[in-house]
Amino acid sequence: MNQPSATVRGYADWQRLAADISPRTHAHIGGRFTPARSGKTFAAVNPATGAVIADVAACEAADIDDAVRAARAAFESGVWSRVAPAERKRVLCRLGELIAVHGAELALLDSLNMGKRVADAFDIDVPAASSLFCWYGEAVDKLSGEVAATDPGNLAIVTREPLGVVGAVVPWNFPLDMVAWKVAPALAAGNSVVLKPAEQSPLSALRLAELALEAGLPPGVLNVLPGFGETAGRALGLHPDVDVLAFTGSTAVGKKFLEYAGQSNMKQVWLECGGKSPNLVFEDTDDLDLAARKACFGIFFNQGEVCSANSRLLVQRSIHDAFVERLVAHARDFYPGDPLDPASGMGAIVDQVQHARVREWIERGRQSATLAAGGGAPLVNGKGLFVEPTIFVDVKPGDAIARDEIFGPVLSVLAFDTEDEAVQLANDSIYGLAASLWTGSLARAHRVSGRLRAGTVSVNTVDALSAQTPFGGFGQSGFGRDLSLHALDKYTGLKTTWITW
Ligand code: NAD
Repeated sequence: MNQPSATVRGYADWQRLAADISPRTHAHIGGRFTPARSGKTFAAVNPATGAVIADVAACEAADIDDAVRAARAAFESGVWSRVAPAERKRVLCRLGELIAVHGAELALLDSLNMGKRVADAFDIDVPAASSLFCWYGEAVDKLSGEVAATDPGNLAIVTREPLGVVGAVVPWNFPLDMVAWKVAPALAAGNSVVLKPAEQSPLSALRLAELALEAGLPPGVLNVLPGFGETAGRALGLHPDVDVLAFTGSTAVGKKFLEYAGQSNMKQVWLECGGKSPNLVFEDTDDLDLAARKACFGIFFNQGEVCSANSRLLVQRSIHDAFVERLVAHARDFYPGDPLDPASGMGAIVDQVQHARVREWIERGRQSATLAAGGGAPLVNGKGLFVEPTIFVDVKPGDAIARDEIFGPVLSVLAFDTEDEAVQLANDSIYGLAASLWTGSLARAHRVSGRLRAGTVSVNTVDALSAQTPFGGFGQSGFGRDLSLHALDKYTGLKTTWITW
């Protein structure tokens, strides 16, 4: 399905393309699609309609074992790990191109599978994944090692070595992009990969495996196994022949991967976990309407299912009431609708479990705070798992909705009086993934951003992000960084070679 963008933007076009979609449903191991050894499958369900899109292989430990063996064999053969950097670059850049060429199909697979607006998947997720493969491809032949300043008669060369088999376990909120964030740098470094996408969203990853083969990636270098966390994910975490485990997901499951590593082979573990990111709005902000619009984007984009979502809004008391008024007005732009309709403000919540969880959080919010907008769970065309953009005010720092990650379109607004109080409230969290702040004062921008405990601080915008900058968190948001050249640190080991004479 190769459609240039201009022909696929309208609602009717997306509906027509969706009717034709035919997802890959088997695991991709050693360059071939194969059913799970057990023959078990699970249903991929469209949360916007309740329709079953496909029955997908439910891989378990035996399948993970097959995939790790295939990945190890590919790695040891040198077919990817020891090829010229220019060849790796060629393949990764080609894969980036193929993602763009098949962008409409990949966007639809994600939208149908986990409920996001297809326009966002096509305009944001697909170009981001495509360019990320090109970006790491381009990096491959520009990195060199080091020569240490040793005594005469010695030469010490420091090189970066691929680590071997990388296990990657990812969530469902940006299915294609979360895969790209792990797979692109891991492959660029010369590793083989065994990837387990989330059970809620395996379809784009399976198609990606096929496109990687078409791009020239040798069989066995990228293996994709759909399956559940407790079975396939656990088996990958415990596997004795996996060298590195790169995880994105909840903090609770991240902690399990640390245990798996300790119980098995002490594999390296890198964790990108949850967040409860603060967005601080000071009274000296130049454009309060822009700040309110961006604050809504920061929490309602992608149904609020964003790890770095600005879910805690801290507003200086002097502007609080006027700011909340603007927030409530802008929140209407995010009213949910059919994810295939580019005019919809928001898509569907990923599945029934998450939908029920978000609704429970809203009920809890009603007990402790004041509902300023939303709170409902409307149907679209009489069906689907939707939630209105929801705003709570009068939230107190100790309230559960101010502390716990909801991972849905629910904003908690707290008031502060002084800069010190704002920083103290912002940092009062077990998480430290991202933070935003709004001010017209350059001095305050520097002062406050320096004091915020967060992997990324965005000043006068929200959620700034690019391939060129590291992304990850402090505290229980995890450790290690995705994106940028720093991500390669996770997938390489430094090796020192001494030569004496
Ligand atoms: P999750 O932790 O439930 O699942 C993530 C992955 O782990 C899935 O593939 C799942 O199958 C697997 N898994 C679940 N239980 C497992 C187990 N016992 N053993 C092994 N694997 C297991 O998270 P989710 O609900 O898919 O995603 C939402 C979470 O992801 C949120 O907390 C969000 O903040 C986080 N997230 C973080 C980032 C980041 O970059 N920091 C990005 C996106 C999402």
